[in-house]
Amino acid sequence: MSGIWKPFTQMLAPPPGGLIDSANGAYLYKKDGQKILDAISSWWVINHGHCHPHIMQAIRTQTHKLDQVLFSNFHHEKSEELIENLKQLLDPKFQHFFFSDNGSTSVEVALKMTLHYFKNLGSKNRTHFLSFTGSYHGDTVGAMSLNDRSTFTNPYKELLFEVNQVKHPGKELSEEWKKSFLHKLDVLKGSLAGLILEPLIQGAGGMIPWPKESLEFIITEVRKTGALVIFDEVMTGFYRTGKMFAYEHLSPEQYPDLLCLSKGLTGGSLPMALTVATSSIYETFLGPKSKMFYHGHSFTGNLFSCAAAVASCQLFLKNQDTYSAKVSKIETHFLEIKALIPNSWDPRVIGTILAFELPDQTKTGRSEYTSMLSEKLTQKALNENIFIRPLGNTLYFMPPYSVEDRELQSIKNFVKKLVFEQDDMYC
Ligand SMILES: *Cc1c(COP(=O)(O)O)cnc(C)c1O
Repeated sequence: MSGIWKPFTQMLAPPPGGLIDSANGAYLYKKDGQKILDAISSWWVINHGHCHPHIMQAIRTQTHKLDQVLFSNFHHEKSEELIENLKQLLDPKFQHFFFSDNGSTSVEVALKMTLHYFKNLGSKNRTHFLSFTGSYHGDTVGAMSLNDRSTFTNPYKELLFEVNQVKHPGKELSEEWKKSFLHKLDVLKGSLAGLILEPLIQGAGGMIPWPKESLEFIITEVRKTGALVIFDEVMTGFYRTGKMFAYEHLSPEQYPDLLCLSKGLTGGSLPMALTVATSSIYETFLGPKSKMFYHGHSFTGNLFSCAAAVASCQLFLKNQDTYSAKVSKIETHFLEIKALIPNSWDPRVIGTILAFELPDQTKTGRSEYTSMLSEKLTQKALNENIFIRPLGNTLYFMPPYSVEDRELQSIKNFVKKLVFEQDDMYC
């Protein structure tokens, strides 16, 4: 593995894996022919399945015509087509689309837009952001500042800006929590610029669901302060939670002002992200140069990514019923699997995501990312030709929607084994 420095990897002891030669549908293939079920959609990006022919063809077709243009001056039909398609999938309040390259940059853009929005309005004091423990918004410095502060952020803490981080309310919204949250808002009031959260379920923080009533309470109260609401749907977008977007689980008054999309945007085939804004935000940026949005990346609006994203949207738009059925099939299987898992493991199903906590006998605490349990489980699953990547002792499955009954059955068999042979896990 000459020269490769892998993400989130102690290179002295890399986790089980190896060289992948090709992929198709829900499977990854090694050169020796080993066929591995991609049970986590390759870090949550693949939704239609690997190498979906419609997306691959769209990229190929694009290669004959145009590769890259300078997006500040020019744009192209693919970007217009993409926005047209997305407008059909999104709530009409989302009208303006800012392109960037990945989930982290979509969050950076949302942060800068929020701050600048208030300055454009003339309210210079709105400079604070609110996020939650357990949250993950990316790895660039701004996004990382919002994240749960942990071993992941500690080495870089001098770089991070101060964020008002509120403890996640947990499984039930208690009166005590409400009281302290309201107190916090009261203190912040006129200085709060934005709230950011991952709606319905926090991902990398351990697949932690939000009770809907907590979200409703939080958003309603934050809106009263005049701050903007940002939803980071980088993971939850495009049917992950059972609906096209996670915000659809809430009532329209709770829909966000800014929306971050990436991961599944191109069907997982190429990097791209969007920060989507309402007209009332966009319009404050119109006027003298000082009001314009100072942000851009070399590859903003890249043609191949746009072509892939258009193709992915077309798949969703043309087959909406099929996707609802695919997603609810996964959910049904996962609910069956959930029934086999002890309650003490806290099994949960949110749309196409099944997660549970394995008892961490090393007692190093929940979600200790470096615990060997995660590596052991990864190896154990690979032995059964299933690829997973537990978050510490949180094991989860999040397959591409192309997954078939028999593949879901193999996940079920694996979980059954874990339940029945749990003591072996720690040897
Ligand atoms: C993955 C993820 C990000 C970061 O996206 P990258 O493309 O990895 O930079 C941000 N927010 C959420 C909720 C994510 O799951």
